[in-house]
Amino acid sequence: MASLMPPAIVVLGPGALATAQRVKALYAGAQIHALQERAQGDIAFSGLSEHLRELYRRGTPIVALCAAGIVIRCLAPLLASKGVEPPVLALAEDGSAVVPLLGGLTGVNVMAREIGAALETAPAITTSGELRFGTCLLNPPEGYALASLAQGKRFVSDLLAGEATRIDGAAPWLETVNLPRDPAARHAIRVSPHAWDGNPEHLVIHPRSVVAAASVAHALLAEHVREALSANGIAQEALAALVAPAARMGDAGFEQAASALGVPLRFADAGDAAHAAEMAGPAEAADSANAAREQANHRAHASAAALLDALALPASAQRLAAEHGIALSVAHEPLDARTLGEARGKLTVLGLGPGRADLLTPMARAALDEATDIVGYATYVEMAGPLRPGQVRHATDNREELQRARHAFELASAGRRVAVVSSGDPGVFAMAAAVLEALEASDEPRWHRVELEIVPGVSAALATAARVGAPLGHDFCMLSLSDNLKPWNVIEKRLRHAALADLAMAFYNPISRARPWQLDRALEIVREVRAPGTRVVLGRDVGRPGETLRTTTLGELDSSQVDMRTMVIVGSSATRGFARGASSGEKHGEWIYTPRWYAQDGGVKG
Ligand code: SAH
Repeated sequence: MASLMPPAIVVLGPGALATAQRVKALYAGAQIHALQERAQGDIAFSGLSEHLRELYRRGTPIVALCAAGIVIRCLAPLLASKGVEPPVLALAEDGSAVVPLLGGLTGVNVMAREIGAALETAPAITTSGELRFGTCLLNPPEGYALASLAQGKRFVSDLLAGEATRIDGAAPWLETVNLPRDPAARHAIRVSPHAWDGNPEHLVIHPRSVVAAASVAHALLAEHVREALSANGIAQEALAALVAPAARMGDAGFEQAASALGVPLRFADAGDAAHAAEMAGPAEAADSANAAREQANHRAHASAAALLDALALPASAQRLAAEHGIALSVAHEPLDARTLGEARGKLTVLGLGPGRADLLTPMARAALDEATDIVGYATYVEMAGPLRPGQVRHATDNREELQRARHAFELASAGRRVAVVSSGDPGVFAMAAAVLEALEASDEPRWHRVELEIVPGVSAALATAARVGAPLGHDFCMLSLSDNLKPWNVIEKRLRHAALADLAMAFYNPISRARPWQLDRALEIVREVRAPGTRVVLGRDVGRPGETLRTTTLGELDSSQVDMRTMVIVGSSATRGFARGASSGEKHGEWIYTPRWYAQDGGVKG
C-alpha cells in the first residue's frame, strides 16, 4: 500500500465524538474534523460537501461518521475524473457499522478491517478478491508498483474463477496471503523491474529498485532516462530516484526531469571521483567531431557513474549500460529513495492566519503537513498543530528572529523540509523578511541552494476588518507601533503622514508591558488631525477562543482597552457604520465600512 496520510475523521454532531475518538486512537496524526458550532474537534469546518471534496481532492483518507448516502452525494461530482482515490469510509455514529466506499486500491478495506476490529464490528467488505484472499493483490506495499491495473483486474478475476498462480521473484508481503498457489501454474505473479511483456496470465509488480544518475541537465533528460530504461527492458515504474550532483541543487532542469519521470530527485556528492572520472576520458586526441562527441559522452557517463558510486546502494545492485551520459543501477529489492544521497532542502515561511483552522489556507496546511521540522515562536508552533508523529518542533521563546531564520536555513540546507511559522501573514511584521535578511547576508552556498517559498496567510488586520464589515475598504496602511526595531520618531512621522493622508490605519503591536506609553502618544498624533467621531475597531484574539470585538470612536478610545493581542483599526474620515439587521444574529450592533468612493475634501480637520 502506498504510504497514506493520516485520515480525517469527520463528525457532524456530538453524538459521534466517542466513536470518532476511538478511530482517532488507531491512526497517528489523525484529526477530528467537526461541523462548526455542532461539535468540538481538532479542526472546524462549516460546509460538509465543500469540506469532504477538499479532503478528497487532497487525497486525504476520509472516515465520515454519517450516512453513507450523504458521503456519496457529496463526493459524486468528483468521481468521474479518475485521479488518486483516497480511502473513504462511512461509519455509523455509534460504531455499529463500518462501510468502505471508495479507495479499493489505496487500502480502504485494510482500514475497514482495522476500524472494524477496534469497534468490534464486522466491516462491510464487498470486494470479492479481497474477501477471498484477504488482501488486495492490486495494492502492493510501498516500494512496489503495479504494471497495469487493467491487466491486474483480469488476473484477479482469473484467480477468482479458479486459476492457481505461482510467484516469480520476491513478494514478502504475499507470504502470509492465502492464494491458490501452484509452482507449475501458468498464471504468475512476477515481481521484477523488467517491463511486462503483455502476457495476459502474468500479474507484474515492479519493485522500485532502479536508480538513474546524470551529471548534466537538459530538456531531453527525462526522455533519455526513459530510453535507457527501455533499452534495458526495464519498466519506468521501477525507477526509484533520479540522482544529480549536489553542486547542481536548484537546477530546474533536473527538477523538471524528475517530475516528468515521477520520481524523487536526490543529490550525491561524487567529489574528486567525478572529477577524476571526467579527466580520464579516452586518451587519443579528438581529431574529429565524432571523436570529440564520443569523448564528451564518455566524460558525462563517467561522472554520472561516479554519482552512483557515491551512493550507499545495496550489494545486489548492478550497473546497466546506458547512453547519453546516464548511469543506471538496478537492485533486487526496492530502494528507499530517502536513503540515496540527500534531498534538496526546503524552507517554507508560512502564515497560520489569526488562529482558527479554517482560516489557515490549504496551501499553508499542505506545507505544514509535508514539513519535517516546524520552527517558530512557541505559541505559533503550538497553533500549527496537531502535528504528525515524527515532525520535530523547534519552538523558541526568544524573540531573536534572525537567529531563528538562520537555524531554519541550517536545517533546510541539511536536506530537511522546514516550515517557519508566523501568525497571520508571514510578510506582515513577521518571519518572511527575517528569513530573507538572513539569506541575503549569508555567503553559505548551501543556504542559497535551499528551495525557498513564502506562503501567505490571513493577516490580523484583514481578519478583524472582516468581522465588523469592511473598515479597510478603501486606501489604508498597516503600521507597527513597536519601536523595538525602528526609532520612535520614525513611527511618529509615519503616523502623522498617514493621518494627514486620511488613510485608514491598522495598528499592529499597539502596546506591551515594555512599551506602555507609545499607544497614547500615537493616538495624540492621530487626534491632532482626525475628528473625535472617527470610527475605531478593536479586535482581540480574533479567530481564537475568547475573541472579542469592540467598536468605538477615536475620541472615546482609551489605551487601557488595548493589549498586545489587540488589533486597532482607526477609520478614515469616510469610515461609517449602520445598524445590522436583527436577523444577522451578531452581538455587535453595527456594520462598519469605508466606502469605495471618496469625498473631494478628504475630510481632514483644519
Ligand atoms: N504576522 C502577523 C502580525 C504579527 S505582529 C499578522 O499578519 O497578523 C503581532 C500583532 O498582530 C499583535 O500585537 C496584534 O496587534 C496583532 N494580532 C496578531 N494576531 C491577532 C489576533 N488573532 N487578533 C488580534 N490581533 C492580532
